[in-house]
Amino acid sequence: MEKSLNECFDENYARIQSEIIRAAEKSGRDPQEITLLAATKTVSVEVINHAIESGLQVIGENRVQELLSKYDAFLPVEKHLIGHLQTNKVKDVVGKVTLIHSVDSLKLAAAIQKQAEKLGIVQRVLIEVNIGGEESKSGVCPDEVLPLMEEIAAMPNVFVCGLMAIPPICNRPEENRKYFSKMRQMFLDIRAKKMDNSSMEILSMGMSDDFAVAIEEGATLVRVGTALFGKRNYN
Ligand SMILES: *Cc1c(COP(=O)(O)O)cnc(C)c1O
Repeated sequence: MEKSLNECFDENYARIQSEIIRAAEKSGRDPQEITLLAATKTVSVEVINHAIESGLQVIGENRVQELLSKYDAFLPVEKHLIGHLQTNKVKDVVGKVTLIHSVDSLKLAAAIQKQAEKLGIVQRVLIEVNIGGEESKSGVCPDEVLPLMEEIAAMPNVFVCGLMAIPPICNRPEENRKYFSKMRQMFLDIRAKKMDNSSMEILSMGMSDDFAVAIEEGATLVRVGTALFGKRNYN
């Protein structure tokens, strides 16, 4: 008989958890420092809820609309927005997610500040860095991270917890090691500055194909979709 989606998830989840432990130990890190976020775009609420019942603690959706359409059906779980966020969708997501991974402009940060202030909350965010310098990608250039954070330091309702990156698509995970390593250096340099409204505790990098390399280079959160849930129909 064919395996059900839930059985596939169970096998994948067990394998990925052990790969995370192996990558952490290989680089002398405590596996407990690393959060596995399940990237759940296109995955049904039934499968996601099975994953939550199996112990998954953090999920990330890409699109605000898809997040909202599933939102009320999720079992209790920490929810993040990991995809690009348009300024006009900010009001739909602020306060609904623990973390927004994709802040990449002053305009977006200002819109989040405005909405968070209105709700009387502090929204936690990451700065998305275009570490490969790709024209087609969102994210700020490495040189613009600090200036952006200096502006956000004056926004009392936005708190920067760290950095996020999506390196270029590559054939072998090893090809991204240099980008992960650059991200870690930037993360540590900024952390040393102890800026206002910022803590630099989360380094979000590594996906299905390269999360082990990302962990070896210092990721504290990996975002894994395909390797947990199987291939998607769209990207
Ligand atoms: C889809 C997605 C992931 C997961 O990608 P996989 O290759 O399926 O593991 C991670 N981060 C972001 C921002 C994504 O959109």
